[in-house]
Amino acid sequence: MPSNLLITGASQLLTLRGRVPRRGKALSDLRIVKNGAVLVHDGVIAAVGPRAEVESLPEALAAERIDVDGRVVLPGFVDSHTHLIHAASRAEEYELKIAGASYEEIARKGGGILNSVKKLRAATAGALKERAHAALRDFAAHGTTTLEAKSGYGLDVASELKILRLHKELSAEQPLEIVSTFLGAHVVPAEYRNKPGGAERYVAVLTETLIPEVAAEKLAEFCDVFCDRGAFSRKDSKRILEEGKKSGMLPRIHAEQLTRTGATQLAVQVGAASCDHLEQVNKADIQALAKSKTAATLLPGCDFHLGMKKYAPARELIEAGAIVALATDYNPGTSPTVSMPMILSLACSQLRMSPAEAIAAATINAAYSLLRDRKIGSLEAGKQADLAIFDVDDYREIPYYFGVNKCWMTLKKGRVVFQKGHT
Ligand SMILES: [Zn+2]
Repeated sequence: MPSNLLITGASQLLTLRGRVPRRGKALSDLRIVKNGAVLVHDGVIAAVGPRAEVESLPEALAAERIDVDGRVVLPGFVDSHTHLIHAASRAEEYELKIAGASYEEIARKGGGILNSVKKLRAATAGALKERAHAALRDFAAHGTTTLEAKSGYGLDVASELKILRLHKELSAEQPLEIVSTFLGAHVVPAEYRNKPGGAERYVAVLTETLIPEVAAEKLAEFCDVFCDRGAFSRKDSKRILEEGKKSGMLPRIHAEQLTRTGATQLAVQVGAASCDHLEQVNKADIQALAKSKTAATLLPGCDFHLGMKKYAPARELIEAGAIVALATDYNPGTSPTVSMPMILSLACSQLRMSPAEAIAAATINAAYSLLRDRKIGSLEAGKQADLAIFDVDDYREIPYYFGVNKCWMTLKKGRVVFQKGHT
């Protein structure tokens, strides 16, 4: 039975229709319809526009109705950078960081990513999945309908494959869409670290064993590298990303977070879908991104949680014409949040992005960075009915009420996946 759903009564309907990706001034163009409505047919948007117009369509007459009573309707958030699968929090390190230890000092003492690797290897697939399911319910409760998920806490063949297979299983078991990324090059694991030729041997495991296996099992669409001091060199990153590309996985890069390594230039050179972090970029990097088709994904949750004062230069990136996107970087070490609304608050207050720019960066540009802008990221006829409905009168109140979740309802492909007050 085909089903029709009519969503009416939106004080503001943020359609974000128009050109993709959004650069410069176009980033703040939300294409708002006042007193808007959306008609959904079989999970796909059939019509979007002013209420009177949509309501008068013949298909709207018999449709099931949701009256949102003056709330704000926007495309579901697309969280284009998460480390979904991990075994436990790192609250103990959080306390050490507050007491003054740096992220790199903690990493040198076997904390940091290697701490999460140890815990993940010891965890059963069942326990990991249960934790991920809980997180996915929380993502949905904050208005997120699609998220990218990276491996990278396994760092051996069996554990990396375990994580990537879980991405696939989770995609089948719950409603949110998960886009899988292989991040075997997160850091060099302990068994290779500080050993003569160790890093080189690990890169060989990645390029000769893991990448071919991941590709053969079709476990990831993207291949990512953490190119930074204490992680992978630019040369090794290039080799890994090129191998990934040969196997059909498009590159993404963790770039210029702790130090400037030239990873942004590498991202542009290899045609990366996204270049993420960018706290330490210089003017030439900004120019290179502005001229490229690579998205610049900013992760302010990370700097906030680590207490770093230096955020990525969002204004310069936007004004130069780079494709700016926003994501949570949900992970246990540096950004344990699933909340895109909180990321919008940080983007506004710390990155000086306008609320409109932040919303476009977290929806249509993020969808572009995952090569899904034809299906999601805006509310237009023919696209998936992925919607977030917020209990506010004006979209600017979404980032304004920082740390408060005003999400009222989330729909994925026309199906309610979260409703406030219903569990
Ligand atoms: Zn990350």
